[in-house]
Amino acid sequence: MISTEAAVLTAVNEPLEFTEIVVDDPEPHEVRLAVSNVGLCHSDLHYMTGTVSADLPVVVGHEVAGVVESVGSAVTTLRPGDRVVGALTPSCGLCRNCQVGHSTQCQRVTQIRQRPRPAFQLLDGRVVHRLGDVGAFSRHTLMRENSLVKVADEVGLHVGCLLSCCIITGVGAVFRGAEVRPGSTVAVIGCGGVGSAIIQGARLAGASAIVAVDLDDARLAAAKTYGATHVVNGAADVAAEIQNLLGDGVDYSFEAVGSARTAATALEVLRPTGTACLVGIAPDGTDLTLPAWNFFFSEKRLVGSYMGSGQAQEDIAQFARLYQQGRLLLDEMVSDVIPFRDIDKGFEAMKSGEVTRIVADLTV
Ligand SMILES: [Zn+2]
Ligand SMILES: [Zn+2]
Repeated sequence: MISTEAAVLTAVNEPLEFTEIVVDDPEPHEVRLAVSNVGLCHSDLHYMTGTVSADLPVVVGHEVAGVVESVGSAVTTLRPGDRVVGALTPSCGLCRNCQVGHSTQCQRVTQIRQRPRPAFQLLDGRVVHRLGDVGAFSRHTLMRENSLVKVADEVGLHVGCLLSCCIITGVGAVFRGAEVRPGSTVAVIGCGGVGSAIIQGARLAGASAIVAVDLDDARLAAAKTYGATHVVNGAADVAAEIQNLLGDGVDYSFEAVGSARTAATALEVLRPTGTACLVGIAPDGTDLTLPAWNFFFSEKRLVGSYMGSGQAQEDIAQFARLYQQGRLLLDEMVSDVIPFRDIDKGFEAMKSGEVTRIVADLTV
């Protein structure tokens, strides 16, 4: 066991508490990681503000990159000093979903997340939970060997951490979730971290038109750097604007906000036979009410995509190579790198449209 500093959420809508915690030794298939960088993600905010419930106290933070500090007895592919990024959805590799390459829906995920002892504890012995069994807002954490991907020295960990959540979620939704075809037309509703990654995925997939939709003009300007060919302010009649711009609805639309209203827009902007893909995480209790004619008369399809719908380890390794070739932009997406202790301020700044991603540096 080691003791380390963590940012603990003890009550919703309260500042994080920076305190010493005890981190357990790695189990046979685990690795203890010295966390170096963590991207601030809207999913963390859902827990911090209570729109999605969590057991408290908890350490949130999951878009993680770091350096292997020690390894469990059965670990064969990683050793201390390796630079890694997280593949957040742990998987057994053996169940039906894992076998068909859909590890994000591993059927044994609850089972493999079980440990004989708590991973994190306060110094008085109380258990500290970890969001997604990651708990990255801690200078050290434990992850399974197959939940980590080794990256080349050329991939800075302050940008590499983005691969772990927003990049795999967004680019994966394009290739694996909606299966965008070359030459097709795409609309992306919500242009934060995940939306920016979806735009890049659509560009990589060879979309002939990519319409970025957001309420914030700064985000729309940034969307063009990632590959958007057109922009529409979300305050307008989005479906009518897209009709005007393209002369038709789009083949694929992506919802990266997490609300019933934007999900309805995603369906509305499609041409007949188009596919809408829901990616944003909606607050607990959100229901969708959608006009049924879209599905029978217009043969539209509605699908969902979670964490890239694929094989996280392999996909992240591929995306890291695309970054090294200059085809996937990561540096541009990092608006600011802030010290660990400034995480609360970072979440505050995320409300501004000037920000795509803020990354915390846990080495300072
Ligand atoms: Zn995330
Ligand atoms: Zn599995």
